[in-house]
Amino acid sequence: MSVNEYNMNIEACVKAYFGEAVGISDIFYVGGGDINEARCIELSNGESIFVKFNSAANMGFFEAEEKGLHAIALTDSIRTPKLLFRGLDKASGKSFLAMEYISDDGKKEDFWEMFGRNLASMHLSGTDAFVGADASDGAGISCVTDLSLSNGRFGFDSDNYIGATRQINSPRSTWIDFFRECRLEPQFRMAEDYFDDTAVRCILKLLDRLPDLLVEPKQPSLLHGDLWSGNYIIGRDGEAWLIDPAVYVGHAEADLAMTELFGRFPAEFYEAYSAVNPIGPGYSDRRDLYNLYHLINHLNLFGGTYYPAVMRIVGEFGCYECFKI
Ligand code: ADP
Repeated sequence: MSVNEYNMNIEACVKAYFGEAVGISDIFYVGGGDINEARCIELSNGESIFVKFNSAANMGFFEAEEKGLHAIALTDSIRTPKLLFRGLDKASGKSFLAMEYISDDGKKEDFWEMFGRNLASMHLSGTDAFVGADASDGAGISCVTDLSLSNGRFGFDSDNYIGATRQINSPRSTWIDFFRECRLEPQFRMAEDYFDDTAVRCILKLLDRLPDLLVEPKQPSLLHGDLWSGNYIIGRDGEAWLIDPAVYVGHAEADLAMTELFGRFPAEFYEAYSAVNPIGPGYSDRRDLYNLYHLINHLNLFGGTYYPAVMRIVGEFGCYECFKI
C-alpha cells in the first residue's frame, strides 16, 4: 500500500488531496531534522499538515520513509503519523512527503512505561511480511521483492537510508551475518580512508569475532532502526509516536542500544520494555557493538570527530593495539 503520488507543486497537491476549496493559509519552519527541510503547513480548512522537502533527486528518501512508517503501522503496536501524499515538483526541483501534523500536548503521566511497552510489542510482532529471500548465495546486494522465495529472516524488502546514507537490507538468514555483511562492512568500506593498516587489522579481527560477541535473537523483530530521542514525538494522546524510521528486521537489542547512544531514556522505559519483552543476559556487553554501526555512519556523514569513538569500540572488541590512539 502506498500514498497518493502527485507530480505537481505543494499547493496543487493540497487541492488534489483535500479538495479544490482547500488552500494553504500559512507555512511555518520546523526545526530539529538533520536531512530534510521540514514545514508545518496550515490549511484554509483549519487543519495543519507536516511536510518534509528535499531535492527531486532525493525522492528515494521519502519512498523509504513511507515504507518504514507503513511497516511500523502494520504492527499496530505504536503510533506513527498518518501519511497523506508524496509529491515531485519538477518545476521547483523539489520532492516532498506530507503527513499528519502531530501537536505536542505534553507527556502523559505513564509516558515512558507506555513507550517501553509499545516498543516491546512492536518487537514481538510477526516479521514474515517484511523480509525477502536470502540473497547471499551469489545474488549480491539487491532489493529482493519475491516474497514467495522467503527464507531470509533478517533485512527488509528494500534498501532504505540511515540519515543520508544508503542502508543495505539484503535479507540474510542469520542476524550475525546480516549485522556483519549489511551493517558494519558497508560502513567500514565507506570510511576506509580514515583507517591505517593497524586499524584495518583491528577491524578485520573484530568482524571475525562477531559470532563470539553477538547472539541470535529468540525471534526477529521489526526495528525502528534509528531510535534516538529526536525520532519520537509526543502526540495529542500524550504518548510517544515514532517518526523518521530506518526500519529493518533485526535483533531488538539494536533498537534499545540506539536509545542509549546519545543519552539513555529514563529507567521506567527499560523496566516496562523488559516486562513485555525481557532484555537478554549480556545485552550491555553487546550494546556498544550495535552502536558502532551508527558511530561509523556518523564518521561517514559528519567527519573525523567520530573517529576516536569508533576506534575505542573497535579496540575494545577487536584488539588492544587500537586503544593506543
Ligand atoms: P529529518 O528527516 O530531516 O531528520 P525529521 O523527520 O526528524 O526530519 O523531522 C524534523 C522535526 O520535525 C522533528 O524533530 C520533529 O520535531 C518534527 N516532526 C517530524 N514529524 C512530525 C509530524 N508528523 N508532526 C509534527 N512535527 C513533526
